[in-house]
Amino acid sequence: MRKKYAAGNWKMNKTFEEGQILLSEVVNMVKDELTHPNVQVVLGVPFPYLSTFSKLIDTPKVALGAQNCHPKASGAYTGEVSVPMLKSVGVQYVIIGHSERREYFGESDAFIAEKTDAILAEGLTPIFCCGETLAQREAGIHFDFVKGQITNSLFHLDAGTLKKVVIAYEPIWAIGTGVTATSAQAQEMHKVLRDHLAGQYGSETAEEISILYGGSVSAANAQELFSQPDVDGGLVGGASLKSRDFTEISKSFPA
Ligand code: PEP
Repeated sequence: MRKKYAAGNWKMNKTFEEGQILLSEVVNMVKDELTHPNVQVVLGVPFPYLSTFSKLIDTPKVALGAQNCHPKASGAYTGEVSVPMLKSVGVQYVIIGHSERREYFGESDAFIAEKTDAILAEGLTPIFCCGETLAQREAGIHFDFVKGQITNSLFHLDAGTLKKVVIAYEPIWAIGTGVTATSAQAQEMHKVLRDHLAGQYGSETAEEISILYGGSVSAANAQELFSQPDVDGGLVGGASLKSRDFTEISKSFPA
């Protein structure tokens, strides 16, 4: 059975003190309430908090995530953070290819491919984000566009390595807008992406890859989204900043 995920992306929010409170609340609630054996909670928190937070997480139900990395292991890259650095402070997951990084920092598919390799080389798990704009959807090119992102950044991997990647489909028009893709739209795209993976790697490999949905996931809509056969959880922005909402999302998987 594919692993299910409730992954939070805090983005550039919360001071250290606020973050400690939020993290502790989520950890305690998840420990007490999350009974689904196959759900992994991931908290993608700001870089400066990683080292301390890794010591505050005392359950395997919750894993620590970073929101970015540089593909080089070390060197003259002022202001950047490498995967060995992240690993050394207990990070297990790294979000890459988020639309905000693609848009505001000009990150290309090729650069994201390099990050993917760097993360996998250190034995960490990339959460690879992809997704189309509203204009692309309205033009009817959304399936090809998102399939292309996956091809360009992931299809150099062999099947065994690809299985270690988590994919997050995040339609840009749904991120932070309060407009969620319908469960039918999410399922439709996830199926297209799984078929795309199957076309390259075979269905056995494709069936093992977790594909998350992201875009205004909330405690109110998570159950409906997560009930879709090809939706293996969510990458959650705004609602991950509220401990009760995020915990409810983590509990929204079918039994
Ligand atoms: C995100 O940024 O990954 C995201 C999905 O944000 P939100 O849940 O706020 O739409």
